[in-house]
Amino acid sequence: MPLFDEDRLPDTGIPYFDRLMYGTAEYDKWVRLMDKRGYRVISEELNAGEAAFIMLGARENRIHLMKIDPNQFRYIDLLHERWHMRQYVRLQAQGIQLNTYIRDWFERGAYEYELRLAKHRGFSAGYVNFLNRQLQEIWFGTVSATAYNSSLVYQELLNSIWR
Ligand SMILES: [Zn+2]
Repeated sequence: MPLFDEDRLPDTGIPYFDRLMYGTAEYDKWVRLMDKRGYRVISEELNAGEAAFIMLGARENRIHLMKIDPNQFRYIDLLHERWHMRQYVRLQAQGIQLNTYIRDWFERGAYEYELRLAKHRGFSAGYVNFLNRQLQEIWFGTVSATAYNSSLVYQELLNSIWR
């Protein structure tokens, strides 16, 4: 794999999922929905290979910031972030605060969701590799994984939230 591939996100190979979202009606609708949930979405040029990221606000003001790069943010990235929102809503329903562990758990849930999509829709091998690598990096051997594996209570709770 050429080095420059590390600097850009691989395509799913399916135009519907690879299309850029910024400026579309679908994107605007999503931004409004995010706003209702307390996430302000702003567009800004990000690093190569980075489509979006969330900055969690202080507990007091509860406003979170999501930055998306107009030239990199695709439908597949929107689906990933939307999955986080779904997790977040479930988390709030349980009355749990976001913390570092939960961020890892959320990532695992979102990448597993993408893997299911990949299988169902036939994403490229390059994209599937990318997903598996992300899962390796954010999960296996981490403190979050150890905490999850060591407690049945955690497992039950998280399985009801992240999947
Ligand atoms: Zn994520």
